[in-house]
Amino acid sequence: MTDAVNSLQDFLDARLAERRAQQLYRSHKTLAAAPGPVAIVDGRELVTFSSNDYLGLAVHPEVIAAQQRGALLGAGATASHLVNGHFEVHQKLQDKIAEVTGREAALLFGSGYMANMGVINALIGRGDYVVQDKLNHASLIDGGRISGAEFLRFAHNDLTALERQLRRAREKGNGKILLAVDGVYSMDGDTAPLAQMAELCHRYDAWLMVDEAHGFGVMGSEFFPCAGSAAAAGLDQNTAPIVMGTLGKAAGNGGAFVAGSRALIDYLTQFARTYIYTTGMPPALAAGCLRALELMQELPLRQTLNKRIQYFRERAAQLQLPLENSTSAIQPLVLGCEKKVLAVSAQLQRAGYLVGAIRPPTVPAGTARLRITLSASHGEAQIDGLLQALVSALVAVEATV
Ligand code: PMP
Repeated sequence: MTDAVNSLQDFLDARLAERRAQQLYRSHKTLAAAPGPVAIVDGRELVTFSSNDYLGLAVHPEVIAAQQRGALLGAGATASHLVNGHFEVHQKLQDKIAEVTGREAALLFGSGYMANMGVINALIGRGDYVVQDKLNHASLIDGGRISGAEFLRFAHNDLTALERQLRRAREKGNGKILLAVDGVYSMDGDTAPLAQMAELCHRYDAWLMVDEAHGFGVMGSEFFPCAGSAAAAGLDQNTAPIVMGTLGKAAGNGGAFVAGSRALIDYLTQFARTYIYTTGMPPALAAGCLRALELMQELPLRQTLNKRIQYFRERAAQLQLPLENSTSAIQPLVLGCEKKVLAVSAQLQRAGYLVGAIRPPTVPAGTARLRITLSASHGEAQIDGLLQALVSALVAVEATV
């Protein structure tokens, strides 16, 4: 081996050893497919409480059939959307997203990560300001960082701290200000105070961008019941002008979108580099997403999910489990210490349940947690089983850690 290869190897070994020592080393489980909220890991069936398939659409036969039919158009889009990768099914999906979100238009992206990077960097740059909640998703943070705009952060959901940063940005110069927040926080399950944030944006001439990764499909308003958390907070295109949503969570497929005014979508089509310089979404995926969005509108899946969330919270409270202030499908149990979280999650897996063990840097130090996610496809008996296993695991681990 050359010196350069040796030094690379030494660097990799040292960083990986450090991660292991900190109990922060990650690896993936290889799942075999199974119907319902079930995964087969190492030949054993586990009930999953760790996926973002909130409505059960990832395993819905009609969504799968639509993807299969969509594949007959070709396995891949074969080019970027603006070259020759934009099919009729992509256009139909964009129109459906606009309809569901109550926006004039929508644009597809390869993933939510790419959408956030693309939008932020198309809208702002050096001389501008990006204001973000400290618990925002990594893709918003990374998008803000590479934009070159001055990055101003505020304590989670703290409106006073937010206003301070908006005022600071306004007083500093006449650059554009973008306020970007998660509508529903991915690791906490709580929601942003979007109505008040929109009001502050109005006062300080800031542009509000809401990441609806965990709100789209599962919450909304009377007229737009699946639009997401901004609609649930009473906001529309005028008050929440930039909405990003993923299609890999409640829609059960993959990919993402930005929805907004026709001008916003036209602008992003011209300037969002993560839209322009990448291969279009495979048509089969667009066909699966389209059917999933129709089913979201047609079936009472949100209502079933809400019943499951309520059931989980009631039973967990009876068992005196330390619930967080979340009414969404994301129900974290903050245990603090990485070792404890890993031990409880391993014990749950032995009992037949798959629950995510979330550790820093995904969450702040000292707040390692189990991230329990609920789905309309869970039955009450599965929730009871999880809670019982959880109580036993906590007692067992408490005695050893
Ligand atoms: N935003 C939030 C809040 C998310 O939780 C995620 C996914 N973890 C993303 C964006 C990225 O979405 P995608 O998985 O489609 O890249």
